[in-house]
Amino acid sequence: MTITGEMLIGFSAVRGNEGEQRAFNPATNSEIMEPVFGMGGAAEVERAASLAQQAFDVYRNVPLTKRAVFLEAIAENILALGDELIERAHAETGLPVPRLQGERARTVGQLRLFARVVRDGHFLGSTIDAAQPERQPSPRADLRLAKIPVGPVAVFGASNFPLAFSVAGGDTASALAAGAPVVVKAHSAHLGTSKLVGCAIQKAVMENGLPEGTFSLLFGAGRTLGEALVSHPVIKAVGFTGSRQGGLALLRIANARPEPVPVYAEMSSINPVFLFPSALENRAEAISAAFVDSLTMGAGQFCTNPGLVLAIDGPGLERFVKAAAEALNTRQAQTMLTPGIFDAYCTGTKNVDAVQGVTKVAQGQSAGERPNSAQAALYLTDAQRLLDSPELEAEMFGPASVVVRARDVDELLRIAEHIEGQLTVTLQIDAADHADAQRLLPVLERKAGRILANGFPTGVEVCHAMVHGGPFPSTSNAMFTSVGATAIDRFLRPVCYQDLPDALLPDALKRSNPLRVWRLVEGEVIAPV
Ligand code: NAP
Repeated sequence: MTITGEMLIGFSAVRGNEGEQRAFNPATNSEIMEPVFGMGGAAEVERAASLAQQAFDVYRNVPLTKRAVFLEAIAENILALGDELIERAHAETGLPVPRLQGERARTVGQLRLFARVVRDGHFLGSTIDAAQPERQPSPRADLRLAKIPVGPVAVFGASNFPLAFSVAGGDTASALAAGAPVVVKAHSAHLGTSKLVGCAIQKAVMENGLPEGTFSLLFGAGRTLGEALVSHPVIKAVGFTGSRQGGLALLRIANARPEPVPVYAEMSSINPVFLFPSALENRAEAISAAFVDSLTMGAGQFCTNPGLVLAIDGPGLERFVKAAAEALNTRQAQTMLTPGIFDAYCTGTKNVDAVQGVTKVAQGQSAGERPNSAQAALYLTDAQRLLDSPELEAEMFGPASVVVRARDVDELLRIAEHIEGQLTVTLQIDAADHADAQRLLPVLERKAGRILANGFPTGVEVCHAMVHGGPFPSTSNAMFTSVGATAIDRFLRPVCYQDLPDALLPDALKRSNPLRVWRLVEGEVIAPV
């Protein structure tokens, strides 16, 4: 497919005239000449939002089976793009081809998972408390609850997942599954990839006879288009993955609207890893090998990258640091997603270098002349230094981590109480560590969305039980997840129908249960018969 520089607004290809941009190849540090993308502005936001508004009541009322088929069609259309998609994503992001192939599989799997969620209908939360006309002292009305989509959703694609968290990624898939039209602002770091995937979605909209405004894809330079999108009264929720600064800026805009709307922003996390004494004694070298792989995967550009390691001082920790340093010293530098992200990584590591009482114990291979390539780094410090130095807790977003020596479990507890909200916390524990881990758990539950034992946090399974969220600042709303089946809940709201005639009730609540969904009836879960 020839990639052209037009936006996709409903079924139209629209060339923006608010400036031009070319895609960028971070590995060669040069622009990709074709095509020239025309950037949009407020006029294009208006057009996409207005189409989304027109589409809303039609799209949300198409039968669930049809919505599911639509999601599956997007998956098929993405696969049909073949190698072109992978090659373009590779050129625009520097991410290795196997990684991108895996990410495409995840993207397609995610769309199919949401198709199953839609068919199953459980997400509607159908709940029935039937009328009790004889109840004393006063009768009870017939009360029925079901969830409806909030309205059109704005999605900001993530730079570090050009497929799985971008145009057809988790935010878009869960919003479309909820019945919400989507307007995506493409990430400037992979414009061509965005366009290819956008075409796959647009084609699925057309093939399935869905309303034009179900999906639009916009390009915007600077901040104006994104700001206009979040400010637009038609937009009822926002999905975002990126920097804390960007997420908070969009949150402020959304809160300042005459009608504030939720922004589900996934921002920064350093994903502490606690190494307990017995685990270190039994397998320091194995833990260190897995840690180094996790830290350097994808040049460390994961929101779940293990940026902080905490352990009680002793021979086990020494063995861990020695083995990790030896392995990291040999790791090749890797191309980062954008020159901006590379600069931010260099600044982050420089800030840590400058903290007194912090020792750099490992540095990966130099990149030589290769541009935008991150050298891995490992730092060592003590607990008090961490407590006193905010620089050590800032997300470095790359293959660098800080190891902290604590005196005892009480000091680990102090650190656990001190750290900010996180997406994940990891425990490396053996049976003899359980009592100490038990002391930490109540604190860690308050701090993180996912707690793992004896693994590493990179690699987020897309399934029903996943939580990829967490207390601020890891996200702007700790009550939801952005990965996994329940991500759909972000874009739904409950409506209670009181005494409505059966004919006027949504199918999820009709007496005959035509959707054959599980329902909560008088507080009891009832299977369809
Ligand atoms: P970003 O700068 O926050 O950008 C993310 C998206 O939001 C882009 O589409 C960007 O537009 C838009 N945007 C950012 N600030 C905005 C504002 N004030 N108003 C309107 N739109 C705005 O993130 P990034 O470029 O992907 O990466 C930069 C840093 O973010 C990294 O160094 C890293 O620290 C962090 N990051 C974290 C995660 C994570 O998962 N936690 C993921 C990726 C990045 P443009 O496309 O026009 O720039």
